[in-house]
Formats: sequence, structure tokens, C-alpha cells
Amino acid sequence: MIPFSPPKIYDELIEEVIDTLKSGWITTGPKTKQFEKEITRFCGNKNTLCLNSATAGLEIMLRWYGVKEGDEVIVPVYTYCASANVVVHCGAKPVLVDVGDDFNISLEKIKGAITEKTKVIMPVDFAGFPCDYNGINKLVSSPEVIQLFNPNNENQQKLGRILVLSDAAHSLGAEYDGKKTGNLTDVSVFSFHAVKNLTTSEGGAVALNLPEPFDNEAIYNYLCTKTLHGQNKDALAKTKVGAWRYDVIEAGYKANMTDIQASMGLVELKHYDGETLVRRKEIFDAYTASFSLHDWAQLPEYDTGTKRTSYHLYPLRVKDITEAQRDQIIQHIFESEVSVNVHFQPLPLLTFYKGLGYDIVDFPMAYDNYSREISLPVYYDLSDENVKTVIDAVVNAVQKVLNG
Ligand SMILES: *Cc1c(COP(=O)(O)O)cnc(C)c1O
Repeated sequence: MIPFSPPKIYDELIEEVIDTLKSGWITTGPKTKQFEKEITRFCGNKNTLCLNSATAGLEIMLRWYGVKEGDEVIVPVYTYCASANVVVHCGAKPVLVDVGDDFNISLEKIKGAITEKTKVIMPVDFAGFPCDYNGINKLVSSPEVIQLFNPNNENQQKLGRILVLSDAAHSLGAEYDGKKTGNLTDVSVFSFHAVKNLTTSEGGAVALNLPEPFDNEAIYNYLCTKTLHGQNKDALAKTKVGAWRYDVIEAGYKANMTDIQASMGLVELKHYDGETLVRRKEIFDAYTASFSLHDWAQLPEYDTGTKRTSYHLYPLRVKDITEAQRDQIIQHIFESEVSVNVHFQPLPLLTFYKGLGYDIVDFPMAYDNYSREISLPVYYDLSDENVKTVIDAVVNAVQKVLNG
């Protein structure tokens, strides 16, 4: 069976984890701090905080911005549940909007969804392909939209507009106008979950890039406290001679990254640009070259000159089929010993969000994309021969269903 997305475990990564285990320091410490600096250097943003998940990073940034009951956060309907769940945790309302043909949040739909209650827009770089950030950044800074904004705390007053908080869980290393994600919006959150391009088993990072007059370093320091119970000294700082006493400044969260996770991340980041992304691009190009020979195939855009993906997911669509036919195609692909997936079931198809009153008929593009989508395996260790096996399995499965 060709798996969908196994992690790449370098020998060097195992060595680095062993080094941490033997160092006597396994929780947040020097390797986490180093990993944060390396991510910042890679992305070109201002400061980066590592945590135990992207979900925690998104929620903590909503809370940092004071998002609460009565507020609205604009979220694309086509995403993983985490993007909207964190809004619900804060007591605010996720305002779901439809997506475009590239699976990403539609700028036009955002325009229609902004109200005087909107505090945050959370674009999601689906499959690693960056959203229309020029459009989104311009929109939140436009006089009409600023005029609607109702700041009700210090950070909201300071920014004076809607915060753009990117769910960049898929898009580490993607580019827009020559700039990397992390450096494209106010704040971007990466995921290092086991199936993501760069993994620390579980983990995430908040890339801070707030404009003047924010002091991103001061915010980073505050967030270190906020993600560690509100405690003003971390465990390492407390080990210094005479430094055992600490204070708690708020009821914070527990979301710090361990040095074991960071050691994985350090090694993977070293290989990311020169190996991980190179191999993933080769696989994308091979899929595109083969599927472009078939009229039924709708290929994903992934390099437009302006926007370049991080090659996270290859979302193939089959033209003019129903959801049931797509499911049959997937069944046949699995029967050929190839694992594929569907990203994502739009939120209104899930019991909880249906229960909140969202209806899939209000999101026709998302449903159309979803009902015809099949995500193909993409990972470093997928050989050229495996790629050919995947392509043959998909072509045979589609032909069986279309001709059957
Ligand atoms: C994986 C994922 C997340 C959550 O990441 P975690 O690190 O598992 O919390 C959030 N959003 C999207 C779009 C994802 O794919």
C-alpha cells in the first residue's frame, strides 16, 4: 500500500533528538529558542513563537486580540475544523464565507461578510497556495472598512482595523510576490503536525509581523508567558541560581513546545528548501504532466509567477462528476493499493457546524470543489515509480467510473 503522507525521519533527526534526550533538558529550552530564530530567518518576519500546535497558536492570537462574545471572525468554509473551532472557543461567531476556484477564501465574499462586529479575518492557504493577500491587506486598510471597525481594547485601538490572522498550517515556504508566508500578514500560524510538510510530531508556530507601533519582540515575550500559565519565568529561567521565585500575571494557557519537538524541527528546516520542497515540486510536476493529457482532469494551480505553493497537497478535481462518483473513484484507487484523501469536508457538512445553522447550499463553490476533489500522496520518500503507480491507479479508477 502506498501511504498518503508518512513523515521523513532523517538519521540526523534521530541523532538530534537523542542529543536533546541526553542533554538533561527536554522541555522548552535552547533548541526551541533556536528553532524560533531559524523560522524567523527563513520567513523574514519579525518574531516567532513556537507552541504545541497551530490550533493553540490561532486561539492564543484571537485571545491576544481580545476576541470574545459578540465579535465576528471571517473564516473560509473550506478548511479544517480547527480554524473555526478556535473562534467558537473564544465565544465569538465564525462567519463562514465561500471560496474561489483555487479553493481559497474569496475576496468578494469577504467584502460581503464584513460588519461592525468583524474583528479578525482568518484566510487559510489551502494546500499551501497563498491567498490573495494584496487584496485582503488592501481591503482591511480601506477607509470604508476601517470606518466600520469598533475597537474595544488596547490592541484593537492600536491596530485600528481588522486583524489578518493567516491559518498558514499548510504553507510554510510558500511565496507571494517574492515574500514568504509568515511575512505576508499581521500574524501567520504554521502547523508542524505529523502530516504537514515540516513536522515536529505535533507543534506549531506563530509568526508575528505586526505593523508599527507594535513591538513584536515585546509581544513575543508576553506570549511566552501567556502560553505558560501566565508565569513570568519559564522552567529554564527558574533553574538559574536564586531565581526560583516567580509570579503569575494572568490565568494563561499551557501550550509550549518541547526541545524534543524543536530538535526535529531544526533538522527538518535545514533540509526544507533544498530537499523537501524540491522533491515535492517534482511530484507536483509529474502529476500535472500526466493528468494534463486527460480531458476529465482539472489541475490545481500552484505556481502563477505571483503565487507559489509550498506543495503541501495536490488537490486533483475530476470534471463533471457527482460526489458519489468521486467516492467510487476513491474506492477503486484504494483497491489499487494507493491511499488518497479528501481535503476538506466543508464545515457545514459536519454535525457541529450544521447544528449552528450553516447550510452547505449557501456555499456552492466549496461544495463543487469538495465533491470532485481527490488529494494525491505527496512526500519526500514517494519514489518516481510510486508516482507512476498513483497516476495509473487514478486514471484507471476514473475511467472505470466514467465509462461504467
Ligand atoms: C492541520 C491544520 C490545522 C491544525 O494544526 P495543528 O497543528 O494540528 O493544531 C489548522 N488548520 C489547517 C488548515 C490544518 O490543515
